[in-house]
Amino acid sequence: MSPLEPELRRDLANLAARGLLRRLRAIDSAPDTLLLVDGKTVLNFSSNNPLALAHHPELRASAQAALHSHGTGAAAARLIAGNLTPHRELERALASWLGTEAALLFNSGYQANVGTVSALVGPEDAIYSDQLNHASLIDGCRLSGATIHVYPHRDAAALARLLAQGQGRFRRRLLLSESLFSMDGDLAPLGALRDLAHRYDAILMVDEAHAAGVRGPAGRGLAAELGVPLDICVGTLSKAFGSFGAYVAGSAALVEYLTQCARSFVFTTALPPAVAAASHAAVTLAAGAEGTARRAQLQQVATRFADGLAALGLPAPRGRWSHIVPIVIGDATAAMHACEALLERGIFAQGIRPPTVPRGTARLRFALSSAHTDPDIERALAALADIRGLLP
Ligand code: PMP
Repeated sequence: MSPLEPELRRDLANLAARGLLRRLRAIDSAPDTLLLVDGKTVLNFSSNNPLALAHHPELRASAQAALHSHGTGAAAARLIAGNLTPHRELERALASWLGTEAALLFNSGYQANVGTVSALVGPEDAIYSDQLNHASLIDGCRLSGATIHVYPHRDAAALARLLAQGQGRFRRRLLLSESLFSMDGDLAPLGALRDLAHRYDAILMVDEAHAAGVRGPAGRGLAAELGVPLDICVGTLSKAFGSFGAYVAGSAALVEYLTQCARSFVFTTALPPAVAAASHAAVTLAAGAEGTARRAQLQQVATRFADGLAALGLPAPRGRWSHIVPIVIGDATAAMHACEALLERGIFAQGIRPPTVPRGTARLRFALSSAHTDPDIERALAALADIRGLLP
């Protein structure tokens, strides 16, 4: 036996003892509102599919057409022989939708964040990163070798103090935030971040993973909703767009630079062309009238759910709407217990534990979709009422 085996088993037992051992659930259906989870059909509140496009006939038709014309794999990195028509057309569509000079495709949001941050800053630079930023942003920070300042969640005043203290000490300074936070569903103070970036000559990079397609005019994201210009806009095609891959949008120089220097772009095979084609169909849908209708529907669903939570005496988004709604329980084992109790009642809201969220803030996370109906929301609320004793 390799000496690694007992060590791995010990570490796994340790995770289990702390309630942190995760289990891969078997999903045997398309990611719709009804989901076949471990052999049981349940109402799905766990997929990031807010516009319900992941199973849309137009996306499937586009993917199928590209499958016929271009085959299954791109067979090379973009800079070698993988720069296919569907990739280029999608990038043009993304830039035109977002109103930026250019956009660059990455193979996932994870790779977009890791590659962009680590290409743009290095050891002479500093990063100012929101405390609850996604792991891919954190990993990009670590990989860059820059000095990392983590500021308290959404706290622009604390960020201002850090920026003032660090003035003149670095070559370049990068402000990093999600726009709609993935695990809390709350919103970054983008206007204040923009002002601080101007005042301190810093660069503003925002990850719109959960807001792209969902917020703003034509679904252009939260920055567009608030009228805040970004230096670097990241979005993923795997959530509202029901597909896969991600983009970085901004100036032509930024995109050219990342094309040369972002290692997660340069050293990986291009996305399958059918995936790019599906994303293109999704961007067209999301930017058009169908997208507008679905966003309105999503907002209604989210408002109804928030009102229902408040009626149960549970914390609910107030004065803003969000399609991501956590119910923070605290203890990891207790959160999974509540998750299983909901599953028994036919409701799937995955329990989220550290390291995805900070220690002591394990939670149920509801991810709403425009395809959820009034009866779906009522069923979820009834199940929550039923397990009320397990909730805060
Ligand atoms: N950023 C945020 C805020 C996310 O929530 C996620 C996905 N969980 C990503 C980036 C990564 O995106 P992808 O799934 O496309 O790799």
